[in-house]
Amino acid sequence: MVVSGRPEPRLDGKVAIVTGAARGQGESEARLFAAAGARVVLTDLLADEGEAVAASIGEAAVFVRHDVTSADGWAEVAERAREAFGRIDVLVNNAGIWRTAPVDQETEERFERILRINLVGPFLGIRAVVPSMREAGGGSIVNISSTAGLRGIPGHAAYGSSKFGLRGLTRSSALDLAADGIRVNSVHPGAIDTPMIAAAGYERGAGGFDRAPLHRVGVPEDVAELVLFLASDASSYITGTEFAIDGGLTTG
Ligand code: NAP
Repeated sequence: MVVSGRPEPRLDGKVAIVTGAARGQGESEARLFAAAGARVVLTDLLADEGEAVAASIGEAAVFVRHDVTSADGWAEVAERAREAFGRIDVLVNNAGIWRTAPVDQETEERFERILRINLVGPFLGIRAVVPSMREAGGGSIVNISSTAGLRGIPGHAAYGSSKFGLRGLTRSSALDLAADGIRVNSVHPGAIDTPMIAAAGYERGAGGFDRAPLHRVGVPEDVAELVLFLASDASSYITGTEFAIDGGLTTG
């Protein structure tokens, strides 16, 4: 779509890393980025699915099996991105897990695991890509949080802590990295129709996951369009900011 003669956001010449890209929102972001001119490094624990998505995108994509909780894994991803495409301009910290339990029934082990994947993983990712982004003269980091990172939700003590934490990591990192031209923003999806929600057996309908004022469940492409905007130079004056994409769920 062209509005007032301005082109839609593009990523020509840019190299992006998208974690959790074997399926769901990460897959959609990787596909949209490639369509917008980027070369993309897809990472995930799900190797077969990730390889298949990268192969279907073609020469503009490579897949690396990667656990976001591993600092060594992040070093390898950054290295592979530079080997394959020569630079890193964009990081989307998308990989995450969603588990719920009332706070008094949450286990220490699961609480720590959720924090490790959803919060420590993105921190390690930021640390791993900053040297390459500095070399490239700047960059954009997009952290996929959640509406559970904007407000309290019953049963979300662990997940909500990780996603509120990611919001804090975003704001502080944005200040640390602004002088290098590296922007950092967070995206807060409401209910988005992906395998994450299907696996949890969440039901649609009143009180279910499509109770947003816009009366529909989000789809991965909704989120991908916003993430593309934040990844691209179209958002070059935006950093340290939170973007809810939830059909109005957190507005009231
Ligand atoms: P998804 O379909 O489950 O995709 C997430 C991907 O991340 C999966 O392929 C998953 O692989 C991978 N992953 C999990 N742990 C990993 C690790 N340690 N290292 C590397 N990859 C790992 O979920 P989605 O809905 O697209 O979620 C994407 C992001 O949006 C997540 O951060 C999620 O918290 C957030 N979000 C989702 C919703 C929603 O309604 N769907 C709402 C708000 C926020 P495995 O299957 O092996 O775990």
